[in-house]
Amino acid sequence: MQQWVEVTATLPEFIELRDTALVCTACRLSETRNSVVFGVGDTNADLMLVGEAPGKHEDLQGEPFVGAAGSLLDELLGGIGLVREDVYIANVLKCRPPGNRDPRPDEIDSCKGYLREQIRMIHPRVVVTLGNFSTKLLLNTETGITRLRGQRFDWWLGATLVPTFHPAAALRGRPQVRYQMAEDFRLVRSILDEAAEAGSSTTKAEPVQTKLELSE
Ligand code: URA
Repeated sequence: MQQWVEVTATLPEFIELRDTALVCTACRLSETRNSVVFGVGDTNADLMLVGEAPGKHEDLQGEPFVGAAGSLLDELLGGIGLVREDVYIANVLKCRPPGNRDPRPDEIDSCKGYLREQIRMIHPRVVVTLGNFSTKLLLNTETGITRLRGQRFDWWLGATLVPTFHPAAALRGRPQVRYQMAEDFRLVRSILDEAAEAGSSTTKAEPVQTKLELSE
């Protein structure tokens, strides 16, 4: 069983959402998946990471970022004093696109409601989008990740959104990508520290209504 199930045992609403997703047939990906990769981690987390879609290993194991990209993610989290269990990790798509092709717009439309509800229920202080797909969806932009990374955006429900590269891009790209990701994670650390210093670590900001293009 995935670790987050234990963590979320007291959150019936979240479990209900997960259970709905586990039998979802809203798009064609349900025909080829082995698992629905709903998400993993602490549903009370201050930090949520949003990737693109499960790959081969994630589809087989039912957990996001368990392959090489996941190891890099663990390393980046470690660099700011966090482990995977401290955060919540999810993807835009909960099912693997065959052959790891890009998510299609209708698949994103079918699936984005799950992500919206995950974010609403977890209500993290900081959301890190990993790569173009999650960044474009959550910031409702066509601007690419290279231009957006490393910045902080005041976002939905009082959260701060920080876009960075997808770990897979760092694995196949120039070493500079990895340095830039580490820099972006340091920005995340400073935002989390700011929130803690402001004495708000026990009281999350009241949700404020802002535009979020995750609407049904
Ligand atoms: N890439 C993603 O975007 N998500 C995963 O879970 C694995 C690889």
